[in-house]
Amino acid sequence: MIDRTHGYFQREKETMSKRRREAYLKQKLSEILRYGYRHSKAIRSWLDGAGIKPEKIKDLKDLERLPITKKTDLVTAQKQTPPFGGFAIVPKKGVRRIYFSPGPVFEPGAWDYEDIRWVQALFACGIRKGDVVLNTFNYHLTPLAFMLDESLKKLRASVVPVGPGNLSMQIQLMRQLHVTGFLGTPSFLMSLVEAAERMSLDPQKDLSLKVAFVGAEMFPESLRQRLEGKLGILIGQVYGTVDVGCLGYECPEKTGMHVPEDVIVEIVDTATGKQLEVGATGEIVATTFSKIFPMIRFATGDLSYLIENPCPCGRTSPRLGKILGRTDQVTKVWGIFIHPWQVDEVMAKFSEVANYQIVVTRKEYRDEMTVYLELRKDVTDQMDLRRRVEREMEEILKVKGEVVFTGKGGIPDRAKKIDDRRIWE
Ligand SMILES: [Zn+2]
Repeated sequence: MIDRTHGYFQREKETMSKRRREAYLKQKLSEILRYGYRHSKAIRSWLDGAGIKPEKIKDLKDLERLPITKKTDLVTAQKQTPPFGGFAIVPKKGVRRIYFSPGPVFEPGAWDYEDIRWVQALFACGIRKGDVVLNTFNYHLTPLAFMLDESLKKLRASVVPVGPGNLSMQIQLMRQLHVTGFLGTPSFLMSLVEAAERMSLDPQKDLSLKVAFVGAEMFPESLRQRLEGKLGILIGQVYGTVDVGCLGYECPEKTGMHVPEDVIVEIVDTATGKQLEVGATGEIVATTFSKIFPMIRFATGDLSYLIENPCPCGRTSPRLGKILGRTDQVTKVWGIFIHPWQVDEVMAKFSEVANYQIVVTRKEYRDEMTVYLELRKDVTDQMDLRRRVEREMEEILKVKGEVVFTGKGGIPDRAKKIDDRRIWE
């Protein structure tokens, strides 16, 4: 049975008015800019370089005047000044952990973990005091598993710190310990469910799982439906990065991912760094208020859009829509940029289409674009559907492509939306 009763709040702030939230974030922003300017070499030299004093940034809109920090900026700074590139503000107490994430990037872990964003996310997903939670995120070098581990402590839930280990052992642990919560990637959860089935177990009857919290990779709707069907529970998706932590979490209403309270999330035009209006697709840029490793306007490289209409769960925070891909996933066909989200826009107009993939090839020095479509059900007039999709593609993408229908399951769940198979030699 799918249970939607865990929609209430962990923090009173989750229901504050838009005006109060803006005032709260403005206050936090001005504090972190002053604090960062005083204590972080990197933030000071970077604000000085832009010719801006922290006091000048009074409004969330004023953030636009500050340059974007890219991951490569962090990597370069850390190479020049190891380990933290002047970004960290190490307190007298020192640093509890030093993380090392792909990039490569070093990050300091605070002695006392105070971030409440993952706590909010875990709670909204349905994790409560007394739950026994299997944490299958990697406890090796990177911070995510530890952040969640600390957050479970704040919720008084017990954690089984397994990491992404041996599947049959994990299933055994889940049964012996009556594990009620799962944390991990959606693909790992699918592997666990399949392994349980291979052991002739019924995941609904033989496991005690009531909550699954997934993140760290794309979560296609088709995979969600399969997992929810097999497990009979709601699955909560979260979004965040190792550099800036949690930026969004789903509530049981699944209307997008609520932005947690202690972070500013902007959607910006990648080229100009200007904020885009609500609903427009752009890059997710985050400003965090960490006292040890603050990030100001950090570019995640992920594309999404904001949703502001009220959520039935009662939380008043804006929400991130789907993650539509990476800013660097754009493909150029016949000299025209094509983003996966643009293709999503086209396909959203055709309810018959269950899944799609665009394959770009090159024949005799000419680009060719083939659009593979997997249909929900048989369509009587395929010719007509093909014509309509081709017309819409040309209209929105400004590139001609040929539509080919594939059988059910013809496009794998984790296939690239735009598969560039051109060989340049
Ligand atoms: Zn909600």
